[in-house]
Amino acid sequence: MLHTHSPAVLPYCFVDTPLRPVTHMGAFIGESVPVYEIRDKHGDETDLFGGSPDVCADIAESLGGSTVVLMARHGVVNVGNSVREVVFRAFYLEQEAKALTAGLQIGKIKYLSPGEIKTAGKLVGAQIDRGWNHWSQRLREAGLL
Ligand SMILES: [Zn+2]
Repeated sequence: MLHTHSPAVLPYCFVDTPLRPVTHMGAFIGESVPVYEIRDKHGDETDLFGGSPDVCADIAESLGGSTVVLMARHGVVNVGNSVREVVFRAFYLEQEAKALTAGLQIGKIKYLSPGEIKTAGKLVGAQIDRGWNHWSQRLREAGLL
């Protein structure tokens, strides 16, 4: 699990436009990203933090079988089967949100179809190590690893 306040994704935590995939790299998102609304069970006077076991359980329930869930007015929870996979997903969720936000400003969106989500998701999922190796190399070149 990787929790972020990913800047390009944050607006989708407080607007009613769903975060849906628009490119092959976002296929892992599925049809749309669920949003956990803390107000539904805990009212409108919480700190929006989600630190209590009750809230964490609710977030996990909202996640369901998805790869990511948005926390309303707070941030993002990404999941994966490995550190590499969850980092890959967090990185490309940010890219996908940027692409969708840009697209919404210039025209009608043609989202990925269910078939494209399924097929592209398999292809892109196979690229996780490639992305990880590229980022690791960049960090080594920068003297950070
Ligand atoms: Zn947070």
